[in-house]
Amino acid sequence: MESLATPRRAGSSQRVLPRHARAHNLTLLLRTLFHGGAMSRADLARETGLTRVTTSDLVAHLLERELVVEKGVRAPSGPGKPAVLVDLDRHGIQVVALDLAGAEENVGALMDLTGAVLDRRIRTRATVGSGDDAVDEVVDLARSLVDVADGRVLGVGVGSPGIISEDGQVLEAPNFGWEAVPLRDRLEDALGVPTVVGNDANAAALAEHTFGQAEPDMFLVRVGRGVGGALLVRGELVVGSAQAAGEIGHVQVGEGDGPECACGKTGCLEAWLSVPQLTRMLEEADASHPGGDRAHEQVLREAGGRLALVLAPIVGALNLSDVVIAAPHELFGGTLLDAALEKLRSHTLSRFHTHVRLRVPLQSDDLVLQGGLVMVLSAELGVS
Ligand SMILES: [Zn+2]
Repeated sequence: MESLATPRRAGSSQRVLPRHARAHNLTLLLRTLFHGGAMSRADLARETGLTRVTTSDLVAHLLERELVVEKGVRAPSGPGKPAVLVDLDRHGIQVVALDLAGAEENVGALMDLTGAVLDRRIRTRATVGSGDDAVDEVVDLARSLVDVADGRVLGVGVGSPGIISEDGQVLEAPNFGWEAVPLRDRLEDALGVPTVVGNDANAAALAEHTFGQAEPDMFLVRVGRGVGGALLVRGELVVGSAQAAGEIGHVQVGEGDGPECACGKTGCLEAWLSVPQLTRMLEEADASHPGGDRAHEQVLREAGGRLALVLAPIVGALNLSDVVIAAPHELFGGTLLDAALEKLRSHTLSRFHTHVRLRVPLQSDDLVLQGGLVMVLSAELGVS
């Protein structure tokens, strides 16, 4: 379908053409409905500052394109005709979202625009690290979800580990053996549905921004099979000079001590913190000190402390108040989080950073999937 999104980088010297103004206004209406919920045309006109005539004309266009629906009438509060409410077609429009960053599996979901999961599929990877076959697995998973949609599929949104270019190429994802894989194009060619591919941590940050309680300035650390991160400044993702902003997994914490990392260095944050590494170190501690909690706790405290050492300069430089750790709550929510917060406070100038909030959302499992939804909404409707 024709994209409604306004170009993000329209040069300032460009003249605003009437059709640009119309696209802009359509986006404005969709955005207002997305955040405000069902409302009458008169409400919409008031909220957006557009005239009633323009609003009615644009709503008619959106109705025709089946992006909005009429939702019945509001009980009249005075004399006159009761107002017909319009809203985004939150249940009829659906999105397929994929999370490729799990430790051993790809997860896919068919979602409606409220973020509700209508169908969920989990596929254990058969072909980790074997390039093309891994792409085929992703395409098959997405296709199985497009096929069960009972509404119209607006797009496919994919959160993938690795460095992703703006046009949806996975420039590098060592765990999949991917190098310059045009994942977006492969999915679009196979499914005929508009597709957006983004880094998994970036997707999670967008989800926390749209559906969660993120502050406009936020750092998100995503921990799964690897460790990634994403930075929001004033509600916008910071992409970085080589699309790798927030990638803190292979920052060495300390002077080369610590566990060996898959990248060949020693003591990278990922070697302290990734779910497989942490699980293995906890198992070793439990095996060498059966029945004793102290060794177990010490592993969690050490990992939390190392995380804080990486976070401290980021929090300090940007004066952040909100750091989200998107990770399994049972591993990260207790001792590890406490130790990280304690060390973060002691390593930053306390007067300006006492209010920093470090949190592990309870429901972080679906953050990347929700991020896939947000990326499609943004690309196709200009809504975020
Ligand atoms: Zn490393």
